[in-house]
Amino acid sequence: MKKKLDQPITRRQAVKLLGQGGLYTFILTQLPSCTTFNPRASGLAPSVQDPLTNPDGLCFSPFDRTLGDLALKEFGGEKPDVPHDFFLFKNRAERKALADSIKDIEKTRVVVVGAGIAGITAAYELRSYKPIMLDQGQRFGGNAQGEAWRGTDYSTAAAYFCGQDADSSILKFYQEIGIDKIWRTKKEEDPVLLNSKRYTNFWNGETAPGAEAQFLKLRKYFEDVNEEKEGQLYPEIPPGSDEVLQRLKQLDRMTFRAHLEEVLGARLHPHIETALEHYCWSTFACTLDQMSAAGGMNAYAAEFGDIYVMPGGNGAIAEAALKKMTDTVPLSHFRPRALVFDVQVSSQGVLVSYINHKGKPARIQADVAILGCPKFVVGKILRDLEPERLKAIEQLNYNAYLVANVLVDQPFREDEFYDYYLLGNGTFDRANIEKTTDEQGVTDVIYGSYARPDITAAGRPGHTVLTLYRGFPYSEGRGKLYMDGAFEKYYAQFAKQIREEILPQLKLDPARIVDIRIARWGHPMPIQAPGLINRGIIDTLRRPFKERVFFVQQDNWMYAAIETSIQEGLIWSKEAKKKLG
Ligand SMILES: Cc1cc2nc3c(=O)[nH]c(=O)nc-3n(C[C@H](O)[C@H](O)[C@H](O)COP(=O)(O)OP(=O)(O)OC[C@H]3O[C@@H](n4cnc5c(N)ncnc54)[C@H](O)[C@@H]3O)c2cc1C
Repeated sequence: MKKKLDQPITRRQAVKLLGQGGLYTFILTQLPSCTTFNPRASGLAPSVQDPLTNPDGLCFSPFDRTLGDLALKEFGGEKPDVPHDFFLFKNRAERKALADSIKDIEKTRVVVVGAGIAGITAAYELRSYKPIMLDQGQRFGGNAQGEAWRGTDYSTAAAYFCGQDADSSILKFYQEIGIDKIWRTKKEEDPVLLNSKRYTNFWNGETAPGAEAQFLKLRKYFEDVNEEKEGQLYPEIPPGSDEVLQRLKQLDRMTFRAHLEEVLGARLHPHIETALEHYCWSTFACTLDQMSAAGGMNAYAAEFGDIYVMPGGNGAIAEAALKKMTDTVPLSHFRPRALVFDVQVSSQGVLVSYINHKGKPARIQADVAILGCPKFVVGKILRDLEPERLKAIEQLNYNAYLVANVLVDQPFREDEFYDYYLLGNGTFDRANIEKTTDEQGVTDVIYGSYARPDITAAGRPGHTVLTLYRGFPYSEGRGKLYMDGAFEKYYAQFAKQIREEILPQLKLDPARIVDIRIARWGHPMPIQAPGLINRGIIDTLRRPFKERVFFVQQDNWMYAAIETSIQEGLIWSKEAKKKLG
């Protein structure tokens, strides 16, 4: 059964339906216990139990595969109501009192708070200690999550990752969890759409005849940095040597734009400026003028090397690691819907208090805690933080994001692409970022089936999933996403751009849209502003606390890239092992 695009079912209507004992009652009674009630799922859920389900019946897979053709018209992604309400209505003293009132204490060696890819990597490395993993989300994966439709996994946030050197510890991690056998390597340049025309050789200057020299000069610079040719060093984050750290510090002194203009000795051509600006909105929810050159060069130079794509995006990395861990770690140790509200280091270890999935307070005592949650959460939950660290945390900024997935009941038969960038008319208004990003809407479109084996081997599936990216590169963006009516407002904007620009461009028929699903993320993008490294803020954020608490999240470097999260997980789990003996 298909629903009409212009007549979304609201949560209220769905609840009414539920009250009437219609479709929902049927679905609820049919759902296997692992697919606990999912308010978004209004299609028939698959009846196979997900192997990543704990004894309480909570599925911790980063993929929600319970959705049918119909999902409720409300935001997917984060469900912030529980943490927001808890921290809003209970002050620090009340939280401490609640934590200290818990008498029944569970003992373990390692507890991991936050099961994003960084926390998962650390837990994976420490799996022999059978860590307990707590995450406030409905599922594990953090910003590396996805959903599925008619057997096609698609991402609701992080999409792809970058090639690694043969001796890289990240590559070793990928090989251990077995994803090197599944990913598809993308080598071709992404197309761009400029003034309604598609170009496939942007960096050869195809869009600007006469100005090719600047395109070619920058292209060569990015390639040299990526391949470390002509004396260039790739600015890895975190750096693997002191030499790379020194390079990062040089780049950290300026914005991405200032660095590129220094390299060119000229202002950026408007098409290059627009392409890089849209890249920054899409990749970091910030602008060329907000991003440090360290982060900008790390990300953009890597685009000139191999890109790895998994079916369903980077959630598949998280899922593979979790599956592998279940060989060693009891299923009862994987605990979604566990909101940690207090962490205290005592002489005996670390006391971690949380609200469990039944709404009850619980406490664990561990030898070591790994904090994979963002630092603005650390600032709320970790007791006795040093003033310097608190001050560092107060200076951090994070921006918001929407990801929409369009499900089309029609095969995609045009020229295949992975990530298609929409550059409008090749200009944007630097003085009014809010207006100009609102007018642009989606910056890029990912073909969701790019990495599916049925694409590369046995032909294409009969349907298409497109994943659309829209960052909010200004601090007021988050507030706009949480206002009353936000879903309807952004749904209408996505639907318009999809119907009028995106599907016609890809020769897909808007009448065959089955659903548009939007995931909302409140603080997913830490802003890597210039100066964070040189001012010592990064060092302060990453430093272990009282020898028992280790930090691993992407914001250790205020940098949203999966490699940073994984590498931090690898580095700090090694330090934790030293403590554990
Ligand atoms: C839309 C989007 C697209 C992206 N695309 C890419 C991409 O293509 N390639 C790439 O490399 N990177 C991409 N990124 C960035 C990448 O997703 C992140 O760098 C990475 O996934 C972050 O992982 P993490 O573990 O460091 O943090 P997170 O994923 O933020 O994990 C933190 C976890 O902590 C949990 N938590 C928070 N507070 C508490 C609490 N009080 N108690 C318990 N748990 C708590 C959260 O629920 C969350 O699961 C993208 C990000 C977004 C938002």
